[in-house]
Amino acid sequence: MHGLIMERELLVTDILRHARRNHPNVEIVSETVDAGRHRYTYAEAYERTCRLAHALDRLGARRGDRVATLAWNTYRHFELYFATAGGGTVCHTINPRLFPDQLVYIINHAEDRWVFLDSSFVELAESLADRLTGIEAWVILCDRDRMPETTLPNALCYEDLLAESPGDYDWPALDERTASGLCYTSGTTGNPKGVLYSHRGIVLHAMAFAWPDSNDLSMRDAIMPVVPMFHVNAWGSPFTAPMHGAKLVLPGPRMMDGAVLQSLINDEGVTIALGVPTIWMALMQHLREHGGNLEPMNRVVIGGSACPAALMDAFRDYGVRVRHAWGMTEMSPLGIINTPRPEFAAWPEEQQRAMDAKTGHGFFGVEMKIVDDDDNELPWNGEAVGALKVRGPWVCRSYYRGEGSDAHDEAGWFNTGDVASIDEYGFAQITDRNKDMIKSGGEWIGSIELENIAVGCDGVAEAAAIAVAHPKWGERPLLVVRRDVGSRVDEATILGEFDGKVPRWWVPDAVAFVDEIPHTATGKISKLTLRERFADYRFAESGDE
Ligand code: AMP
Repeated sequence: MHGLIMERELLVTDILRHARRNHPNVEIVSETVDAGRHRYTYAEAYERTCRLAHALDRLGARRGDRVATLAWNTYRHFELYFATAGGGTVCHTINPRLFPDQLVYIINHAEDRWVFLDSSFVELAESLADRLTGIEAWVILCDRDRMPETTLPNALCYEDLLAESPGDYDWPALDERTASGLCYTSGTTGNPKGVLYSHRGIVLHAMAFAWPDSNDLSMRDAIMPVVPMFHVNAWGSPFTAPMHGAKLVLPGPRMMDGAVLQSLINDEGVTIALGVPTIWMALMQHLREHGGNLEPMNRVVIGGSACPAALMDAFRDYGVRVRHAWGMTEMSPLGIINTPRPEFAAWPEEQQRAMDAKTGHGFFGVEMKIVDDDDNELPWNGEAVGALKVRGPWVCRSYYRGEGSDAHDEAGWFNTGDVASIDEYGFAQITDRNKDMIKSGGEWIGSIELENIAVGCDGVAEAAAIAVAHPKWGERPLLVVRRDVGSRVDEATILGEFDGKVPRWWVPDAVAFVDEIPHTATGKISKLTLRERFADYRFAESGDE
């Protein structure tokens, strides 16, 4: 017997319709590429989104077509999210930091018909255009009087398209399983793989994002995603903010600029911000050099790679609580977040901090388990370490056009490629990417923990622990370090930092100083490149003990 409850489809369109009706005067504030700080309301965003939907119809967009964006976090990108999905097309957000060959691959693979791009990406687009097979027009996100000179064929002006359209739109009634967005994830090997989001997944994720023991988002908040809208939808924030009536603050192309971030936080009353550790280190450096505060902000969500304890402490000094989070492009992205259980409040401070530093707990919607090499489930005892598998209504079930789905098993679990332990409180600790682990004498060493300790050492700007072949132990950790400008911190000081914090045999055998640490297109340290670069490295005799 079925229940007698209405079956309304869960659609992205309804998020913005809801915001227009219930939070019409709440603002979206953006730093733009070419016109300073822009502000308008959800009601205005809705109207312009309708205009854009008409423009897409005029361009000839049909259901299921892919519409690409090469754009920063701004209000126009926000409009694109909703006009594409709402009209039944798919917003393909492109990461401009991918290598040119990868960009060509994904645009052709996705069969994008249009690219909507910020003027700062025109040059990049021009360098690729000859190799792209299906692009019918390039729409530049600017006013008519700011249209750049370009050799791009069929370059159109975004504001012209909107000006020619009416401000209301009859949104189609879509099946909630309809694809709404596409984001490629750049694995360390092979071609990037496409994750195809659905309306249903996006709406459910946007709800879960706001739960108290998730990000605790409400209409009393102003949220600033300092994660790009081209990388997993800025962690879903452009959907969850209008759903919950939170003000949305978009830093545009100025994401690495500590001064801009600080001024946005203070001027716009940002209460919660999202970003990877590197971004926040830039902000902290700015605050150290120029002073100031983060007055309105009370929490910051840090994920994308492990958050060093030193960064958590730095935020604590500014009265900001860090919520450590873990997720993936394949998971829309949220999977694990750290908020304290009530019983921790009675614990000694050091123990509470140790729990804060863990990756965090799961929440309804993402089931997780850890398994051994034979896929046997491991206990949640804080000791057992295994491959982390997940499943849930916003986790991708296979890649776009089928590639690389060996990460999915028959029971519907997705193998994340991350390795973790989970303790008796349900708190997970991600110890490594599967392929980044270091195996010394048959035992695993977690590189993330080594890196976290190293960056806690004064003068260390960035650190990566990688496996290097060793005649006796198979592999031993080498710590690659980029020093702060002007710092002369030496190997002995850095290695001294590990005393008492990890077992002796975990301590890296040596430190290699470099001027630059390579990063992937999503800003993570590229261990693959480092392993290649240090493939012939040999430890000195003393390291052979
Ligand atoms: P992406 O799909 O590009 O967002 O990358 C997802 C990967 O980033 C995960 O599989 C992890 O390896 C890594 N990652 C994300 N958040 C964390 C975290 N809090 N701690 C450690 N690694 C993380």
